[in-house]
Amino acid sequence: MPGFLLYLEGYGDRIRFDYGDMSERTHTSTESRAAGRDFVRAIVAGDVRAGTHGGRVVTRFPPEPNGYLHIGHAKSICLNFGIAAEFGGRCHLRFDDTNPETEDARYVESILEDVRWLGFDPGEHVYHAADDFETFYELAVRLIKKGKAYVDSQSDEEIRENRGTIAEPGRPGPYRDRSVEENLDLFRRMRAGEFPDGAHVLRAKIDLASPNMLMRDPVLYRIRHASHYRTGDAWCIYPLYDFAHPLEDAIEGVTHSICTLEFENNRELYDWVVRETEVASLPGASRPRQYEFARLNLDYTVMSKRKLAALVREDRVSGWDDPRMPTIAGLRRRGVTPEAIRSFCELIGVAKSDSRVDIGKLEYAVREDLNHRAPRVMCVLRPLRVVLTNWPEDEVEWLDAPYWPRDVGKEGTRKVPFSRVLYIERDDFMEDPPRGFFRLAPGREVRLRYGYVIRCDEVVKDENGEVVELRCSVDPATKGGAAPEGRRIKGTLHWVSAAHALRAEVRLYDRLFRVPDPDAAAAADDAGEDFRAFLNPESLVVIDDARIEPSVRDAPPGTRYQFERTGYFISDPVDSRPDGLVFNRTVTLRDGWAKVAGTAAPSAGRPVRGGTAGRRRTIRASAEAAGRAANATTTERETIDSGADGATPASTPAARAPEERAPATRTRPPELAARFTRYTAELGLAEEAADVLTRDAATAEFFEAALRAGAAPRTVANWVVNELPRELEGRDVAQLPFDGGALGELVALIDAGAISGSAGRLVLAEMAEHGGDPAEIVERRGLRQVSDAATLAPIVDDVVAAHPDKVTGYLNGRTGLLGFFVGQVMGRTRGRANPERVKALLEERLTAASGR
Ligand code: ATP
Ligand code: MG
Repeated sequence: MPGFLLYLEGYGDRIRFDYGDMSERTHTSTESRAAGRDFVRAIVAGDVRAGTHGGRVVTRFPPEPNGYLHIGHAKSICLNFGIAAEFGGRCHLRFDDTNPETEDARYVESILEDVRWLGFDPGEHVYHAADDFETFYELAVRLIKKGKAYVDSQSDEEIRENRGTIAEPGRPGPYRDRSVEENLDLFRRMRAGEFPDGAHVLRAKIDLASPNMLMRDPVLYRIRHASHYRTGDAWCIYPLYDFAHPLEDAIEGVTHSICTLEFENNRELYDWVVRETEVASLPGASRPRQYEFARLNLDYTVMSKRKLAALVREDRVSGWDDPRMPTIAGLRRRGVTPEAIRSFCELIGVAKSDSRVDIGKLEYAVREDLNHRAPRVMCVLRPLRVVLTNWPEDEVEWLDAPYWPRDVGKEGTRKVPFSRVLYIERDDFMEDPPRGFFRLAPGREVRLRYGYVIRCDEVVKDENGEVVELRCSVDPATKGGAAPEGRRIKGTLHWVSAAHALRAEVRLYDRLFRVPDPDAAAAADDAGEDFRAFLNPESLVVIDDARIEPSVRDAPPGTRYQFERTGYFISDPVDSRPDGLVFNRTVTLRDGWAKVAGTAAPSAGRPVRGGTAGRRRTIRASAEAAGRAANATTTERETIDSGADGATPASTPAARAPEERAPATRTRPPELAARFTRYTAELGLAEEAADVLTRDAATAEFFEAALRAGAAPRTVANWVVNELPRELEGRDVAQLPFDGGALGELVALIDAGAISGSAGRLVLAEMAEHGGDPAEIVERRGLRQVSDAATLAPIVDDVVAAHPDKVTGYLNGRTGLLGFFVGQVMGRTRGRANPERVKALLEERLTAASGR
């Protein structure tokens, strides 16, 4: 499975390293670094150091097979498998299947698939609690013999009543002092099926006055005449969680039993069960300890399997793998990768107090991951016909279009047909545009991505006054997006050729609920509505007649793309066929929701500027339309499209300065002209860079502020000119959630070698999304570059030792293998090593090897 990618500079060309599956890395000398990541790891590291459990680390992920895994489980999976990998231990996948009523083998299958898909492999350590039913029973008998458990024949209500309250101790029931013999006899007959459900239970005999209610003689076994998916009808008594769970852990030799905070009160009972059953004396068993961390609560969704199962059962979603579901299967079908889920889990970290996580964080991780994974293609969601009146009737020009217009060094193009009749996005035309709308309008010009500049000469309407066609003319001198003589083109649009485009169904997925916390909303609802009332009625909008460029025709289901200017999409792994393409929207290009959330409540399905000619479709009126309106009145992303997204290579100064005149002779207001001179003469910047920096006062101010942090002016300029545009996403610098000073601090960190350039890009992406202090982001995400030889040398040695054949190859002249070795070391350090240092160390070691 591909891991995350790093672009390494300093080799002439950038080299791309595939780290492989990060989850499988075992780290030499990384335990101390792991220890610093969160309190659970700190505890584990302490135990390893102190030799507790003989220095062993065994964790487990224990799902109950009563539903599909969700993103909350992913947090637990990453934590448990992550710790095992980092501390040279192992992690078990255990099905906590002690409840016959809700469990099912199909859930076992889905859980296995999801854990593996996430990139974690329990190997042979897949267990079922049900396989230990006999041992649990024997240990219960042991408790009875010790006088620590008894059969109670009270009803459930009587038991509850006699348990007392927080303020008042419980009262012993009439059966508490049964003799050991009587208890043994009754418990045996419970197992033999002599009694109906509810006739008796087995209870621990602990303390009816305990301040911890769970210690007031908890129930350990109950009678359930039900078939179990694994043990069939072998049992009619089943152990309860609080009895079974610690035993499962101990029997498997688990050392650190990590669970969510709501089990904090159960810890006392957990320890009691381990102690009193003496389970640790069984062969291979351990004396496990329980630790609690905060569960993941994600905005705009619910995480309880019971509620998710209800949505499936009631057909409110299409299944457990509906792309709106927070399930792993749903996220997978939506196009989210395992890498994105893992990096999200890393981003949110592990803490000890409950909180809710902004869903924007997940979307951010998804975008960050897909950005370098999804090739760009063009798809028009709501087509508007454009006829190019001066383009010959049957002439087709096949244009070269890069798949990776923004990734330097990533190759790959496809041919895109350009012809007389095209489609553009209906929203990209306005008859009466507001200020700041840089797309097409009567008499206006726009650039067609990779194609030509066109001008709108005429608007054709149907009898209802709806625009059905635009008649435009092509400027043949502008092929490939070249700027026309003396005119400035601000907008760049995506488009498809009508005759060549493929029809596709596009499913626009959005948040499942319309409020951040559906459970809280339900609790606060006076009308007594439950969580279902807060489902987002516009969570799925289906467009059945989108048009997409023909290059995608043969892509297998499950292929990911970025539809330029629209979002990230995946061809639906289930429903997409070559003759019936279906695409799911994974995530929009940026957060359009944040802008409108809290303003007008989503009005259900107002018809908005219809679909194809003559036909009106109902689309989500709220977020998208409001987002567009917000865009149109402020700064449009087209200002950026014209440059960074234009036909010339991304973000180069040339692309961002469409005027033909040389930068030095361009007329500027005196203030900016003075700065241009200073930047070129005093700071030694290239004219093109200085030109971009003095394009307007806001950019110049931003740059000045960045300079004040003290990094080298050229590096600062390079980041403002070349890296920042990628993150602007339609904003101008004044709208960013951070100022020039913060960018300057980031560049200073890179300049000082504290972090690598690639790490710097990750930080910048996060700043662009959420703001924040670069140094803090670097620390939180552990991006600080490792340069010291003492840390790096053992890893280098390990890598060299692990690949003798590659060493031979290298010594026989395949020097390109150096890149392989660097990649291995970078992988083992999760990209934190200073690649220059690694390269030097490797050369040293490999040369030494040749001497032997
Ligand atoms: P339910 O939704 O029915 O309460 P559950 O989510 O607790 O069930 P389990 O199968 O018991 O499901 O969970 C397996 C493991 O996943 C447990 O160790 C649990 O602590 C962990 N887990 C479950 N939900 C979350 C969450 N939201 N965040 C982190 N860990 C979770
Ligand atoms: Mg549970």
